[in-house]
Amino acid sequence: MQTLDPKDLPSLFRQRFGGEPLVFRAPGRVNLIGEHTDYNEGFVLPAALDLATYAAIAPRHDRVIRVHSVNLNSDFSFALDEGQSRRGDWSDYIRGVAVELGKSGYRLLGADIMVLSTLPMGSGLSASAALEVAVGYALLSIASEKVDLLELAKICQRAENDFVGMRCGIMDQFISCHGVEGSALLLDCRSLESKAAPIDPSVRIVICNTMVHHHLASSEFNQRRRDCETAVALLSQRIEGIKALRDVSVAQLERHAALLPPLIFKRAWHVVTENARTLAAVSALESRNFAELGRLMNASHESLRDDYNVSCTELDLMVELARGAPGVYGARLTGGGFGGCVVTLVDAEEAAHFAEIVGPAYTNATGLSPVIFTCFPGPGVGPALF
Ligand code: ADP
Ligand code: MG
Repeated sequence: MQTLDPKDLPSLFRQRFGGEPLVFRAPGRVNLIGEHTDYNEGFVLPAALDLATYAAIAPRHDRVIRVHSVNLNSDFSFALDEGQSRRGDWSDYIRGVAVELGKSGYRLLGADIMVLSTLPMGSGLSASAALEVAVGYALLSIASEKVDLLELAKICQRAENDFVGMRCGIMDQFISCHGVEGSALLLDCRSLESKAAPIDPSVRIVICNTMVHHHLASSEFNQRRRDCETAVALLSQRIEGIKALRDVSVAQLERHAALLPPLIFKRAWHVVTENARTLAAVSALESRNFAELGRLMNASHESLRDDYNVSCTELDLMVELARGAPGVYGARLTGGGFGGCVVTLVDAEEAAHFAEIVGPAYTNATGLSPVIFTCFPGPGVGPALF
Protein backbone atom coordinates (compact mmCIF):
# COMPACT_ATOMS: atom_id res chain seq x y z
CA MET A 1 0.00 0.00 0.00
CA GLN A 2 1.15 3.56 -0.74
CA THR A 3 2.53 5.35 2.31
CA LEU A 4 2.57 8.77 0.66
CA ASP A 5 0.45 11.32 2.51
CA PRO A 6 -1.18 14.08 0.42
CA LYS A 7 -1.15 16.34 3.48
CA ASP A 8 2.63 16.57 3.02
CA LEU A 9 2.20 18.00 -0.46
CA PRO A 10 2.23 21.74 0.44
CA SER A 11 5.47 21.41 2.42
CA LEU A 12 7.09 19.19 -0.24
CA PHE A 13 6.07 21.81 -2.80
CA ARG A 14 7.59 24.67 -0.75
CA GLN A 15 10.86 22.77 -0.38
CA ARG A 16 11.17 22.09 -4.11
CA PHE A 17 9.65 25.13 -5.77
CA GLY A 18 9.21 27.77 -3.03
CA GLY A 19 5.90 29.63 -2.80
CA GLU A 20 2.51 28.57 -1.55
CA PRO A 21 0.52 26.17 -3.76
CA LEU A 22 -3.17 25.57 -4.25
CA VAL A 23 -3.94 21.84 -4.05
CA PHE A 24 -6.53 20.00 -6.13
CA ARG A 25 -7.69 16.41 -6.00
CA ALA A 26 -9.09 14.11 -8.69
CA PRO A 27 -10.20 10.57 -7.80
CA GLY A 28 -9.51 7.23 -9.43
CA ARG A 29 -12.43 4.91 -9.96
CA VAL A 30 -13.66 1.38 -9.70
CA ASN A 31 -16.07 0.16 -12.34
CA LEU A 32 -18.75 -2.10 -10.85
CA ILE A 33 -19.89 -3.37 -14.25
CA GLY A 34 -19.95 -2.24 -17.89
CA GLU A 35 -16.42 -3.10 -19.05
CA HIS A 36 -15.19 -2.21 -22.54
CA THR A 37 -18.62 -0.70 -23.25
CA ASP A 38 -17.74 2.99 -22.99
CA TYR A 39 -15.96 3.25 -26.35
CA ASN A 40 -18.93 1.40 -27.86
CA GLU A 41 -21.20 4.26 -26.71
CA GLY A 42 -22.79 1.95 -24.14
CA PHE A 43 -23.41 1.92 -20.38
CA VAL A 44 -21.01 1.83 -17.44
CA LEU A 45 -21.42 1.86 -13.66
CA PRO A 46 -18.29 3.32 -12.03
CA ALA A 47 -17.78 4.85 -8.59
CA ALA A 48 -15.14 7.47 -7.77
CA LEU A 49 -12.68 6.19 -5.19
CA ASP A 50 -11.44 7.69 -1.97
CA LEU A 51 -7.98 7.20 -3.51
CA ALA A 52 -6.92 10.12 -5.71
CA THR A 53 -4.24 12.11 -7.45
CA TYR A 54 -3.37 15.46 -5.87
CA ALA A 55 -1.88 18.34 -7.85
CA ALA A 56 -0.23 21.23 -6.00
CA ILE A 57 0.21 24.24 -8.26
CA ALA A 58 1.49 27.81 -8.22
CA PRO A 59 1.70 30.18 -11.21
CA ARG A 60 5.05 31.29 -12.66
CA HIS A 61 5.96 34.57 -14.31
CA ASP A 62 7.09 32.89 -17.54
CA ARG A 63 5.27 30.41 -19.81
CA VAL A 64 7.08 27.34 -18.56
CA ILE A 65 5.41 24.36 -16.88
CA ARG A 66 7.63 22.44 -14.48
CA VAL A 67 6.29 19.21 -13.02
CA HIS A 68 7.52 16.88 -10.31
CA SER A 69 5.93 13.51 -9.51
CA VAL A 70 6.41 12.49 -5.89
CA ASN A 71 5.45 8.90 -6.74
CA LEU A 72 8.05 8.53 -9.45
CA ASN A 73 10.58 11.04 -8.03
CA SER A 74 10.83 12.35 -11.57
CA ASP A 75 10.68 15.80 -13.23
CA PHE A 76 10.18 17.41 -16.57
CA SER A 77 9.46 20.85 -17.94
CA PHE A 78 8.19 22.35 -21.16
CA ALA A 79 7.25 25.75 -22.58
CA LEU A 80 3.55 26.31 -23.26
CA ASP A 81 4.18 27.88 -26.65
CA GLU A 82 6.46 25.20 -28.12
CA GLY A 83 5.09 22.26 -30.14
CA GLN A 84 4.74 19.00 -28.20
CA SER A 85 5.02 15.42 -29.35
CA ARG A 86 4.68 12.04 -27.67
CA ARG A 87 7.66 10.90 -25.59
CA GLY A 88 6.25 7.62 -24.36
CA ASP A 89 6.53 8.46 -20.67
CA TRP A 90 4.35 9.96 -17.90
CA SER A 91 4.95 13.50 -19.17
CA ASP A 92 2.64 12.68 -22.12
CA TYR A 93 -0.46 12.73 -19.91
CA ILE A 94 0.31 16.23 -18.65
CA ARG A 95 1.67 17.76 -21.86
CA GLY A 96 -1.34 16.21 -23.63
CA VAL A 97 -3.76 17.95 -21.26
CA ALA A 98 -1.97 21.30 -21.69
CA VAL A 99 -2.00 20.91 -25.49
CA GLU A 100 -5.70 19.98 -25.60
CA LEU A 101 -6.66 22.82 -23.24
CA GLY A 102 -4.77 25.21 -25.54
CA LYS A 103 -6.55 23.80 -28.61
CA SER A 104 -9.88 24.38 -26.87
CA GLY A 105 -9.02 28.06 -26.56
CA TYR A 106 -7.93 28.30 -22.93
CA ARG A 107 -5.07 30.69 -22.25
CA LEU A 108 -2.95 28.89 -19.66
CA LEU A 109 -0.30 30.33 -17.34
CA GLY A 110 3.16 28.94 -16.70
CA ALA A 111 3.19 26.95 -13.45
CA ASP A 112 5.10 24.80 -11.02
CA ILE A 113 3.18 21.58 -10.37
CA MET A 114 3.78 18.74 -7.95
CA VAL A 115 1.67 15.59 -8.26
CA LEU A 116 1.19 12.88 -5.67
CA SER A 117 -1.17 9.95 -6.04
CA THR A 118 -2.51 7.52 -3.47
CA LEU A 119 -3.66 5.31 -6.37
CA PRO A 120 -1.63 2.37 -7.60
CA MET A 121 -0.51 3.07 -11.18
CA GLY A 122 -1.41 0.78 -14.05
CA SER A 123 -3.78 -1.29 -11.90
CA GLY A 124 -7.07 -0.56 -13.61
CA LEU A 125 -8.15 2.08 -11.07
CA SER A 126 -7.44 4.84 -13.55
CA ALA A 127 -4.47 6.67 -12.15
CA SER A 128 -4.04 8.04 -15.68
CA ALA A 129 -7.40 9.83 -15.79
CA ALA A 130 -6.94 11.05 -12.21
CA LEU A 131 -3.60 12.59 -13.23
CA GLU A 132 -5.10 14.24 -16.33
CA VAL A 133 -8.12 15.61 -14.51
CA ALA A 134 -6.19 16.84 -11.45
CA VAL A 135 -3.66 18.68 -13.62
CA GLY A 136 -6.29 20.00 -16.05
CA TYR A 137 -8.41 21.35 -13.20
CA ALA A 138 -5.35 22.88 -11.53
CA LEU A 139 -4.18 24.60 -14.74
CA LEU A 140 -7.65 26.07 -15.36
CA SER A 141 -8.01 27.19 -11.75
CA ILE A 142 -4.83 29.27 -11.65
CA ALA A 143 -5.68 30.78 -15.05
CA SER A 144 -9.02 31.91 -13.50
CA GLU A 145 -10.84 29.96 -16.19
CA LYS A 146 -14.29 28.69 -15.30
CA VAL A 147 -14.18 24.88 -15.20
CA ASP A 148 -16.91 23.09 -17.14
CA LEU A 149 -16.52 19.55 -15.82
CA LEU A 150 -17.96 17.81 -18.86
CA GLU A 151 -15.68 19.76 -21.16
CA LEU A 152 -12.71 18.99 -18.91
CA ALA A 153 -13.53 15.26 -19.06
CA LYS A 154 -13.65 15.38 -22.86
CA ILE A 155 -10.39 17.34 -23.09
CA CYS A 156 -8.63 14.84 -20.81
CA GLN A 157 -9.99 11.93 -22.87
CA ARG A 158 -8.62 13.57 -26.04
CA ALA A 159 -5.24 13.98 -24.32
CA GLU A 160 -5.16 10.25 -23.62
CA ASN A 161 -6.52 9.26 -27.07
CA ASP A 162 -4.54 11.57 -29.31
CA PHE A 163 -1.46 12.36 -27.28
CA VAL A 164 -0.76 9.28 -25.17
CA GLY A 165 -2.17 7.02 -27.92
CA MET A 166 -4.54 5.03 -25.68
CA ARG A 167 -7.97 4.96 -27.34
CA CYS A 168 -9.92 4.83 -24.06
CA GLY A 169 -13.57 5.80 -23.80
CA ILE A 170 -14.95 8.64 -21.66
CA MET A 171 -15.72 6.66 -18.48
CA ASP A 172 -12.56 7.29 -16.48
CA GLN A 173 -12.34 11.02 -17.06
CA PHE A 174 -16.10 11.46 -16.62
CA ILE A 175 -16.28 9.77 -13.23
CA SER A 176 -13.13 11.52 -12.01
CA CYS A 177 -14.92 14.80 -12.80
CA HIS A 178 -18.44 13.88 -11.70
CA GLY A 179 -18.10 11.33 -8.86
CA VAL A 180 -20.82 11.38 -6.21
CA GLU A 181 -20.04 10.51 -2.59
CA GLY A 182 -21.55 7.20 -1.50
CA SER A 183 -22.79 6.35 -5.01
CA ALA A 184 -21.93 4.68 -8.25
CA LEU A 185 -22.97 6.50 -11.44
CA LEU A 186 -24.84 4.93 -14.30
CA LEU A 187 -23.37 6.73 -17.31
CA ASP A 188 -24.75 6.59 -20.82
CA CYS A 189 -21.55 7.03 -22.81
CA ARG A 190 -23.47 8.29 -25.84
CA SER A 191 -25.69 11.00 -24.36
CA LEU A 192 -23.31 11.53 -21.40
CA GLU A 193 -26.32 11.60 -19.10
CA SER A 194 -25.66 10.11 -15.71
CA LYS A 195 -27.65 9.06 -12.70
CA ALA A 196 -26.35 8.38 -9.19
CA ALA A 197 -27.05 4.92 -7.80
CA PRO A 198 -26.41 4.96 -4.04
CA ILE A 199 -24.46 2.04 -2.59
CA ASP A 200 -26.57 0.58 0.21
CA PRO A 201 -24.75 0.50 3.59
CA SER A 202 -25.45 -3.22 3.94
CA VAL A 203 -22.87 -3.99 1.23
CA ARG A 204 -19.23 -3.06 0.67
CA ILE A 205 -17.18 -2.71 -2.49
CA VAL A 206 -13.88 -4.47 -1.89
CA ILE A 207 -10.99 -4.09 -4.32
CA CYS A 208 -8.30 -6.77 -4.66
CA ASN A 209 -5.13 -5.70 -6.48
CA THR A 210 -3.49 -8.77 -8.03
CA MET A 211 -0.19 -6.84 -8.19
CA VAL A 212 0.46 -7.98 -11.74
CA HIS A 213 0.53 -5.84 -14.88
CA HIS A 214 0.81 -7.52 -18.23
CA HIS A 215 2.27 -5.23 -20.80
CA LEU A 216 -0.19 -6.25 -23.47
CA ALA A 217 -2.72 -3.85 -22.02
CA SER A 218 -2.57 -0.86 -24.35
CA SER A 219 -1.88 -2.66 -27.66
CA GLU A 220 -4.57 -5.29 -26.95
CA PHE A 221 -6.96 -2.54 -25.86
CA ASN A 222 -6.61 -0.70 -29.14
CA GLN A 223 -7.01 -4.03 -30.99
CA ARG A 224 -10.33 -4.68 -29.17
CA ARG A 225 -11.52 -1.27 -30.31
CA ARG A 226 -10.72 -2.13 -33.90
CA ASP A 227 -12.55 -5.48 -33.54
CA CYS A 228 -15.65 -3.62 -32.36
CA GLU A 229 -15.42 -1.22 -35.30
CA THR A 230 -15.16 -4.20 -37.66
CA ALA A 231 -18.27 -5.74 -36.08
CA VAL A 232 -20.23 -2.51 -36.59
CA ALA A 233 -19.10 -2.21 -40.22
CA LEU A 234 -20.18 -5.82 -40.98
CA LEU A 235 -23.48 -5.63 -39.09
CA SER A 236 -24.42 -2.36 -40.72
CA GLN A 237 -24.75 -4.25 -44.04
CA ARG A 238 -27.96 -5.72 -42.58
CA ILE A 239 -29.01 -3.50 -39.69
CA GLU A 240 -29.84 0.01 -40.76
CA GLY A 241 -28.65 3.09 -38.92
CA ILE A 242 -26.24 1.51 -36.42
CA LYS A 243 -23.30 3.66 -35.42
CA ALA A 244 -21.86 1.64 -32.54
CA LEU A 245 -22.39 -1.71 -30.82
CA ARG A 246 -24.61 0.24 -28.44
CA ASP A 247 -27.23 0.19 -31.19
CA VAL A 248 -27.28 -3.61 -31.52
CA SER A 249 -29.56 -5.77 -29.37
CA VAL A 250 -28.72 -9.29 -28.22
CA ALA A 251 -31.50 -10.65 -30.50
CA GLN A 252 -30.16 -8.74 -33.54
CA LEU A 253 -26.65 -9.99 -32.94
CA GLU A 254 -27.91 -13.58 -32.70
CA ARG A 255 -29.88 -13.15 -35.91
CA HIS A 256 -26.93 -11.78 -37.86
CA ALA A 257 -24.17 -13.90 -36.31
CA ALA A 258 -23.23 -15.42 -39.67
CA LEU A 259 -22.04 -12.01 -40.90
CA LEU A 260 -19.16 -11.98 -38.43
CA PRO A 261 -15.96 -14.06 -38.27
CA PRO A 262 -16.04 -16.09 -34.99
CA LEU A 263 -13.55 -13.91 -33.13
CA ILE A 264 -15.32 -10.67 -34.08
CA PHE A 265 -18.64 -12.24 -33.03
CA LYS A 266 -17.21 -13.06 -29.58
CA ARG A 267 -16.01 -9.47 -29.13
CA ALA A 268 -19.40 -8.07 -30.15
CA TRP A 269 -21.24 -10.60 -27.99
CA HIS A 270 -19.36 -9.43 -24.92
CA VAL A 271 -20.18 -5.77 -25.56
CA VAL A 272 -23.85 -6.30 -26.42
CA THR A 273 -24.53 -8.59 -23.45
CA GLU A 274 -22.46 -6.38 -21.12
CA ASN A 275 -24.64 -3.37 -21.95
CA ALA A 276 -27.72 -5.42 -21.05
CA ARG A 277 -26.06 -6.63 -17.83
CA THR A 278 -25.14 -3.08 -16.83
CA LEU A 279 -28.71 -1.82 -17.13
CA ALA A 280 -29.94 -4.87 -15.20
CA ALA A 281 -27.26 -4.24 -12.55
CA VAL A 282 -28.52 -0.71 -11.86
CA SER A 283 -32.04 -2.06 -11.28
CA ALA A 284 -30.61 -4.72 -8.97
CA LEU A 285 -28.60 -2.12 -7.03
CA GLU A 286 -31.63 0.16 -6.73
CA SER A 287 -33.90 -2.64 -5.54
CA ARG A 288 -31.18 -3.94 -3.17
CA ASN A 289 -31.18 -7.30 -4.95
CA PHE A 290 -27.51 -7.98 -4.25
CA ALA A 291 -27.69 -11.65 -5.21
CA GLU A 292 -28.76 -10.57 -8.70
CA LEU A 293 -26.14 -7.81 -8.85
CA GLY A 294 -23.47 -10.36 -7.87
CA ARG A 295 -24.69 -12.80 -10.49
CA LEU A 296 -24.41 -10.11 -13.16
CA MET A 297 -20.88 -9.21 -11.99
CA ASN A 298 -19.89 -12.87 -12.21
CA ALA A 299 -21.35 -13.16 -15.71
CA SER A 300 -19.43 -10.03 -16.71
CA HIS A 301 -16.17 -11.64 -15.63
CA GLU A 302 -16.89 -14.83 -17.54
CA SER A 303 -17.67 -12.81 -20.65
CA LEU A 304 -14.49 -10.73 -20.33
CA ARG A 305 -12.47 -13.91 -19.82
CA ASP A 306 -13.98 -16.14 -22.49
CA ASP A 307 -15.33 -13.80 -25.18
CA TYR A 308 -13.34 -10.58 -24.86
CA ASN A 309 -10.15 -12.40 -23.76
CA VAL A 310 -8.83 -9.65 -21.51
CA SER A 311 -8.38 -11.60 -18.28
CA CYS A 312 -5.24 -13.43 -17.07
CA THR A 313 -4.40 -16.26 -14.67
CA GLU A 314 -3.98 -14.00 -11.65
CA LEU A 315 -7.29 -12.18 -12.20
CA ASP A 316 -9.14 -15.48 -12.67
CA LEU A 317 -7.56 -16.87 -9.52
CA MET A 318 -8.42 -13.78 -7.46
CA VAL A 319 -12.01 -13.91 -8.72
CA GLU A 320 -12.32 -17.59 -7.74
CA LEU A 321 -10.86 -16.99 -4.27
CA ALA A 322 -13.06 -13.95 -3.71
CA ARG A 323 -16.20 -15.85 -4.71
CA GLY A 324 -15.34 -18.55 -2.16
CA ALA A 325 -15.19 -16.10 0.77
CA PRO A 326 -18.20 -15.69 3.11
CA GLY A 327 -20.72 -12.97 2.28
CA VAL A 328 -19.52 -12.44 -1.30
CA TYR A 329 -22.25 -11.77 -3.86
CA GLY A 330 -20.02 -11.50 -6.91
CA ALA A 331 -16.53 -10.71 -8.21
CA ARG A 332 -15.11 -9.61 -11.55
CA LEU A 333 -12.04 -8.01 -13.05
CA THR A 334 -12.33 -4.22 -13.24
CA GLY A 335 -10.61 -1.87 -15.67
CA GLY A 336 -9.12 -2.81 -19.02
CA GLY A 337 -7.83 -6.22 -17.89
CA PHE A 338 -4.49 -8.11 -18.32
CA GLY A 339 -3.78 -7.63 -14.61
CA GLY A 340 -4.77 -4.96 -12.13
CA CYS A 341 -7.77 -5.29 -9.85
CA VAL A 342 -10.81 -7.39 -9.04
CA VAL A 343 -13.96 -5.70 -7.69
CA THR A 344 -16.05 -7.67 -5.22
CA LEU A 345 -19.47 -7.02 -3.72
CA VAL A 346 -19.43 -8.22 -0.11
CA ASP A 347 -21.95 -8.20 2.70
CA ALA A 348 -20.95 -5.38 5.08
CA GLU A 349 -20.79 -7.70 8.08
CA GLU A 350 -18.35 -10.06 6.39
CA ALA A 351 -16.19 -7.40 4.70
CA ALA A 352 -13.79 -7.01 7.63
CA HIS A 353 -12.70 -10.67 7.37
CA PHE A 354 -12.54 -10.84 3.60
CA ALA A 355 -8.89 -9.79 3.26
CA GLU A 356 -7.76 -12.27 5.96
CA ILE A 357 -9.25 -15.11 3.94
CA VAL A 358 -8.49 -14.12 0.37
CA GLY A 359 -5.07 -12.48 0.85
CA PRO A 360 -3.15 -15.51 2.24
CA ALA A 361 -4.82 -17.88 -0.22
CA TYR A 362 -3.71 -15.69 -3.14
CA THR A 363 -0.19 -15.45 -1.71
CA ASN A 364 -0.01 -19.23 -1.29
CA ALA A 365 -0.91 -19.78 -4.90
CA THR A 366 1.19 -17.03 -6.50
CA GLY A 367 3.88 -15.86 -4.07
CA LEU A 368 2.51 -12.33 -4.51
CA SER A 369 1.23 -10.04 -1.74
CA PRO A 370 -2.09 -8.60 -2.90
CA VAL A 371 -3.44 -5.28 -1.66
CA ILE A 372 -7.08 -5.67 -0.58
CA PHE A 373 -9.16 -2.73 0.63
CA THR A 374 -12.74 -1.55 1.04
CA CYS A 375 -13.65 1.46 -1.04
CA PHE A 376 -16.06 4.19 0.01
CA PRO A 377 -17.12 6.14 -3.07
CA GLY A 378 -16.01 9.76 -2.89
CA PRO A 379 -16.69 13.01 -4.76
CA GLY A 380 -15.27 14.11 -8.11
CA VAL A 381 -12.49 16.62 -8.77
CA GLY A 382 -12.18 19.77 -6.70
CA PRO A 383 -9.98 21.61 -4.21
CA ALA A 384 -8.30 19.19 -1.79
CA LEU A 385 -9.87 19.36 1.66
CA PHE A 386 -7.31 18.18 4.18
P1 ADP B 1 -4.32 3.10 -14.85
O1 ADP B 1 -4.96 4.29 -15.45
O2 ADP B 1 -5.22 1.94 -14.77
O3 ADP B 1 -3.66 3.37 -13.53
P2 ADP B 1 -2.53 3.50 -17.06
O4 ADP B 1 -1.45 2.68 -17.65
O5 ADP B 1 -3.63 3.99 -17.94
O6 ADP B 1 -3.15 2.66 -15.83
O7 ADP B 1 -1.92 4.78 -16.36
C1 ADP B 1 -0.80 4.69 -15.51
C2 ADP B 1 0.26 5.67 -15.97
O8 ADP B 1 -0.16 7.02 -15.66
C3 ADP B 1 1.58 5.51 -15.25
O9 ADP B 1 2.37 4.52 -15.86
C4 ADP B 1 2.19 6.91 -15.38
O10 ADP B 1 2.76 7.08 -16.67
C5 ADP B 1 0.96 7.81 -15.31
N1 ADP B 1 0.74 8.30 -13.92
C6 ADP B 1 -0.36 8.13 -13.18
N2 ADP B 1 -0.21 8.72 -11.96
C7 ADP B 1 1.00 9.29 -11.94
C8 ADP B 1 1.75 10.04 -10.96
N3 ADP B 1 1.25 10.32 -9.77
N4 ADP B 1 2.99 10.45 -11.33
C9 ADP B 1 3.48 10.18 -12.53
N5 ADP B 1 2.85 9.47 -13.47
C10 ADP B 1 1.61 9.02 -13.19
MG1 MG C 1 -5.63 4.46 -17.46
